[in-house]
Amino acid sequence: MQNMELSCRCGKVQGQAANTGPDGGTRLVCYCDDCQAFARQLGRDDVLDEWGGTDIYQLAPCQLTISQGQDQLRCLKLSDKGLIRWYCNCCNTPIGNTVSGSLPFIGLIHSFVRSDQDLNKVQGSVRGYVHGRFAISTPPTGKEGRGTQWRLLMRIFRRLLTAKLTGKGQPNPLFDPDGKPVIAPKVVKP
Ligand SMILES: [Zn+2]
Ligand SMILES: [Zn+2]
Repeated sequence: MQNMELSCRCGKVQGQAANTGPDGGTRLVCYCDDCQAFARQLGRDDVLDEWGGTDIYQLAPCQLTISQGQDQLRCLKLSDKGLIRWYCNCCNTPIGNTVSGSLPFIGLIHSFVRSDQDLNKVQGSVRGYVHGRFAISTPPTGKEGRGTQWRLLMRIFRRLLTAKLTGKGQPNPLFDPDGKPVIAPKVVKP
């Protein structure tokens, strides 16, 4: 099993993801307009690929540790009901997406992976592309992300259920034990 070193661009926030690699999580690219809006909101559309995709590695909260810079953690929501999207206050590095404190799931964004590592090595290759209808121009064959990707969705659901049943939602560096975000999300409507 791999471990993955995490760091924001300026280095104030650092951490680690344990037991990663192809079997430790699910790597996918999301083209959705909310992921794009999040990057733009932070002035960090450099984290998007040329079709507006965000490279995400889904893991369980217990795999993630923030070892320094906890005071720089911030989060926002793009609508009242939207995902809680995490970033660093120091340098606006996108960290990842979460649904709530009770769902044992973090979609870690590649920008928070320390850049001296090969994503294919520490995460495995991309398993699927989703929400392709929001992509900027047409992604090439194999990266369209159109239609329903049952295999990918089943994998995500199965992992989520396993994480829930095996208590992998705790400890969680982004939520307190009562399921409240460690810092209140601000709602930013783009
Ligand atoms: Zn930083
Ligand atoms: Zn998305």
